[in-house]
Amino acid sequence: MSRPTARVVHLVSRPTGAPTAGNFAFLDETVPPLAPGEALVENLFQSVDPYMREEMDEGGWALHAPLEGRTLGRVVESRTPALPVGTLVHHRRAWRTLSVITPAESFVLPDFAGVPLSAHLSVLGGTGLSAWVGLTRIARLRADETIFISAAAGGVGTAAGQLARLLGAGRIIGSTGSAAKAAHLTERLGFDAAFDYHDAPIADRLREAAPDGLHVYLDNVGGDHLEAAIDTLRDHGRIAWCGAVAQYNNLQSPPPAPRNLYDVVGKSLRLEGFLVREHLDARPGLYDFLVPHLRSGAVVPDETVVPGFERVVDAFLGMLRGANTGKMIVRLAE
Ligand code: NAP
Repeated sequence: MSRPTARVVHLVSRPTGAPTAGNFAFLDETVPPLAPGEALVENLFQSVDPYMREEMDEGGWALHAPLEGRTLGRVVESRTPALPVGTLVHHRRAWRTLSVITPAESFVLPDFAGVPLSAHLSVLGGTGLSAWVGLTRIARLRADETIFISAAAGGVGTAAGQLARLLGAGRIIGSTGSAAKAAHLTERLGFDAAFDYHDAPIADRLREAAPDGLHVYLDNVGGDHLEAAIDTLRDHGRIAWCGAVAQYNNLQSPPPAPRNLYDVVGKSLRLEGFLVREHLDARPGLYDFLVPHLRSGAVVPDETVVPGFERVVDAFLGMLRGANTGKMIVRLAE
């Protein structure tokens, strides 16, 4: 019996500095017959994420081998009763149009009527969960506090800004890479102030936006952003360190900032890093909190959806350069 062909992307070389399309190759693979306990999934949406840049370095993804990533798809063939044909699933066998999965390495998506499927990769996915964990478990944001969010117009940032508002934050400040994105934050997503970090020293812009200082910083960028936030935080402020996207192209070299790390002691700050994969038990709490707001329209899944599997590499490279507003997602099939 003839088997379907999957379109697949492999990593074929490792970048020095910024990655290029030449680091990847597209190929075709015949899908093998399913073994008992397996299901074949047609992939519908895939997430492209900053951590994937780290995976491109030595010690990360293998060359010329299957890659991983957060993916949503529909079961089209099954040899397991746990995943009947038609089931919508989340799995990580990504960068391919068709994936063979088992129940153990996937989960069946909850059906939240009225909520778009792609939200399971944005506000309801690992991205939104990172924002939720950063705000509620790590920073423990309280009502009326002033929070600064970097990479604020990206996936984690747009989720964090909207969640912070619902959690009662007093003032929400975001930094991003263009004036248009800054306007998007204040005009569409309820940020009180936003600035383009290219415009001036970040610490100056932050002091203008938060004259009374910050209580909380959700750090997605690291480097000069972290230094500016340490400078602007009030005594006993908290930093939830989520990521350092400014550094991922050169992780082997020490970053030039923050030069004021010892002020963490002088100001009695709390700086805590976290990995969302250690907080998956927080997901039901996020669903309970957010789904009613998604249904009412109070929260909008902010997404840039790039159509077509052939553009998955472009979407990934574009996200690293800031081509996205909200979560960068690739739509692989209708
Ligand atoms: P994202 O923010 O949607 O996309 C990355 C953004 O980074 C780009 O849109 C770009 O926006 C910005 N950027 C790129 N280079 C930059 C630079 N040199 N300085 C400042 N900003 C730069 O990505 P995301 O998925 O939401 O992830 C955001 C951060 O959270 C990343 O650091 C990621 O690694 C981290 N994260 C951590 C966890 C965890 O478990 N700890 C989980 C998910 C994500 P601009 O146009 O604004 O520059």
